[in-house]
Amino acid sequence: MIQEALPGAAELQAGTGATVYDTAALKQLDTAHHLHPFTDHALLRQRGGARVMVRGDGIYLWDSDGRKIIDGMSGLWCVNVGYGRTGIADAVYAQMQALPFYNSFFNTTNVPAVLLAEQLAQLAPPKFGHVFFTSSGSEANDTVVRMVRRYWDLMEQPQRQVIISRRNAYHGSTMAAASLGGMAGMHAQGGLPIPGIVHIGQPSYAEAGQGMSEAEFGIKAAGWLEEQILELGAGQVAAFIGEPVQGAGGVIIPPPTYWPEIQRICDKYGILLVSDEVICGFGRLGRWFGCELMGFQPDLIAFAKGVTSGYVPLGGVLVSARVAEVLVERGGDFNHGFTYSGHPVACAAALENIRILREEKLVEKVAAETGPHLKAAFAGLALHPLVGQAETCALVAALDLVRVKRGSVHANERFAAKDAVGMICRGHMFDNGVIMRAVGDRMIVAPPLVITRQQIDEMAERIWACLDLTLNDLK
Ligand code: PLP
Repeated sequence: MIQEALPGAAELQAGTGATVYDTAALKQLDTAHHLHPFTDHALLRQRGGARVMVRGDGIYLWDSDGRKIIDGMSGLWCVNVGYGRTGIADAVYAQMQALPFYNSFFNTTNVPAVLLAEQLAQLAPPKFGHVFFTSSGSEANDTVVRMVRRYWDLMEQPQRQVIISRRNAYHGSTMAAASLGGMAGMHAQGGLPIPGIVHIGQPSYAEAGQGMSEAEFGIKAAGWLEEQILELGAGQVAAFIGEPVQGAGGVIIPPPTYWPEIQRICDKYGILLVSDEVICGFGRLGRWFGCELMGFQPDLIAFAKGVTSGYVPLGGVLVSARVAEVLVERGGDFNHGFTYSGHPVACAAALENIRILREEKLVEKVAAETGPHLKAAFAGLALHPLVGQAETCALVAALDLVRVKRGSVHANERFAAKDAVGMICRGHMFDNGVIMRAVGDRMIVAPPLVITRQQIDEMAERIWACLDLTLNDLK
């Protein structure tokens, strides 16, 4: 796309037909006017401004300097079907021409929203027949808070207000979603969490599993929920929320015993169980929803990201019969909603995205082919002297960078936080054509679901080379 009127905009290079960008001008304008999420702007300016992404195809991105990069993070855990899907662009264009917007308040609906609601009810685990649409994962989790509390009001147990979450969870950035999240850095800004939300420990075996088998630790970590319920009084507790695998917290993969035990405890006390599937949904874990892999049946499912592969913003909450029957039969008005709930263009994008996931059997491919291949590739990377351990779950994976490798997750010696080794490593990755995320010294990937085995090998080779560069810097 050429936008000649804008400074720094693309021009066609004479002769070659290639698109050329004035990167310096774009960076300068960005630095002058654009406040980015979760960014230290003074530091960004010092480093010369943000990298400008201009194009994507499959698992690859190109920046404005023409560098080709493997997007190991699917944008922000969302581009499940990969970049460059003209089918989604066509669906969006057609819907924009037919009906670019109408709301779903006031007894109205639109065709894509109807069709998508029906599709989602089909795809979701049994007992899920309804959906409430939002535009993001944060709004989905805000909706969870309001829906859960409304449910207990209608059940004539209005004292059930407290929602239990976990430290180091990420559920979004709005006031309620950031409160549900357990990120200390977020709570430190803006007086969070809001009342009625408490946090228990995360099921991180590396952090708290010393002296136990993983299976034993899973039961122990789930037991923290029961302890918290008993401390609060079961009659005060409305719900428990968790990501099947914690994403932004650093790919924390719980032991297989964890979620079934959480389910048992929620059932025992009649507490609603909420699965935040904003990352894990739509195939990331080799199932349509992560709860199916982890072996639990939630009452509510929050989703976003992979539902449209990020092409257009869309999120929502899937509502099981237990909650829907109460909201629908006894609820009257639910005084909650967004202008863009059920946005026709976003729903059209989701319908085409889901059609692609189904037609190309991408979810099945993750389970049978690419997930196991990523596991093998990361087992190879675990042999690198800088890597203490590698962990994978279907198409998410993490490497722990350690100062002294002793072979056991509890015995490895870590770097000091001030050394920022993860950030050094991330920089090498960026400069050498692969995007990994650093959570402290834990290096993460969650590539598009279309990645092939050969591309996984290509990504792993680049990662190994960048680990070498990082190790070299530390000498
Ligand atoms: N929940 C989880 C598990 C997430 O990972 C995220 C975003 O990364 C959110 C919720 C928030 O979604 P959004 O950024 O679309 O508001």
